[in-house]
Amino acid sequence: MSVTNESLFERAKQTNPGGVNSPVRSFRSVGGTPRFFRKGEGAYLWDVEGTRYLDLVGSWGASITGHAHPEIVQAVQKAAEHGLSFGAPTEAEIEMAETLCRLLPSMEQVRLVSSGTEATMSAIRLARGFTKRDLLIKFEGCYHGHSDSLLVAAGSGALTFGHPTSGGVSELTASQTVVLPYHDTEALENAFKQLGDKVAAVIIEPVAGNMNMIIPTQAYLQTLRTLCDDYGVVLIFDEVMSGFRVALECVQGLMGIRPDITTLGKVIGGGMPVAAFGGRKDIMAHLAPLGSVYQAGTLSGNPVAVAAGLASLAIIQREGFYQHLSTVTQRFVQGINRIAANHAFCAQSLGGMFGFYCLESVPDSYEAMRKCDQESFKRVFHALLNQGVYLPPSAFEAGFMSAAHTEVMIDDALNKFATIVDA
Ligand code: PLP
Repeated sequence: MSVTNESLFERAKQTNPGGVNSPVRSFRSVGGTPRFFRKGEGAYLWDVEGTRYLDLVGSWGASITGHAHPEIVQAVQKAAEHGLSFGAPTEAEIEMAETLCRLLPSMEQVRLVSSGTEATMSAIRLARGFTKRDLLIKFEGCYHGHSDSLLVAAGSGALTFGHPTSGGVSELTASQTVVLPYHDTEALENAFKQLGDKVAAVIIEPVAGNMNMIIPTQAYLQTLRTLCDDYGVVLIFDEVMSGFRVALECVQGLMGIRPDITTLGKVIGGGMPVAAFGGRKDIMAHLAPLGSVYQAGTLSGNPVAVAAGLASLAIIQREGFYQHLSTVTQRFVQGINRIAANHAFCAQSLGGMFGFYCLESVPDSYEAMRKCDQESFKRVFHALLNQGVYLPPSAFEAGFMSAAHTEVMIDDALNKFATIVDA
């Protein structure tokens, strides 16, 4: 009997909790059977049943060059021939650090890690070690990985301390995180007035992608920068998702705001596990082995993963890369907006990242996003999936294009969308 997505899902559930190794893959919020992929090439994925999909997820943003880009595959093969892991320094790690520091001037020094979670968790510890303060401010709807102090929701009052959103996170840990509404200047100013001198760090997605895509104003981010300066708080821009995804200069370059620490992941690994955190040299100097803040990793700066990352970073720096990426992404969102003119759907994009919303108008806050019509999203998601277009399997996730997507592919997806909406 040949394998099917369904048979693999049933089999996976015997040995993996929920049949997956990361919850959103389980299709819980849209229902149905997750696709088990066997191959990716360029803009397409193929599942185990041989069905082809136009991929609008791109490994949650990592696959910006398209799947199995020949230069990245070759770099990985070449690195692997020389050994998979040394647990000791390599020249390629220096090249990676130099590239990141050159592309992002706010990053005076950088440490490589293996996941976005590790990057944000380490950045927060570093900020606490540097400021000798305990409190952390985060924003509702932002996701920064699954470390304890970040799996926290707002308390019941306007400015109470957080409570855990995950089993296993202690009340004590959650109580050191203050959760504020995203893109709300007044709430920000009030919080700083009351707690500013106790806060070690503010962590923010400067363009959010984990409550679907929300683009804040430059003025909001500038206020945040100023308040952090006034109160000696470390400003962490979590660009794990937006970094090199919205533009080569990332959100910080587009908005002209210099964070103290930046966290990166996804694109900088070219599909392999590479992430990083870096920023002001005086802050980074507090990191072991120079300073007292401990952080380490057996596979940090892994030579095969770094080879993939370097190849990916080389490709995105080429002339015209972001131009093409933005053009195809814009074509998609403009098409959605045109087709959906009389329906409650809309879309927007920045670089190679887009938001597709089951709402009348583009949301500018988590509160606005929460009003989206999830039933409608499920219907569109499954109808597109059945026609070979793979959207993120949740109404609250951003979507991602790659440089391998073409206008012809986008127009084909839009035609399919049009038939669904009109049905
Ligand atoms: N930060 C942001 C903004 C993210 O979007 C993610 C993951 O999607 C993370 C951190 C965590 O990264 P990882 O899944 O590599 O641990």
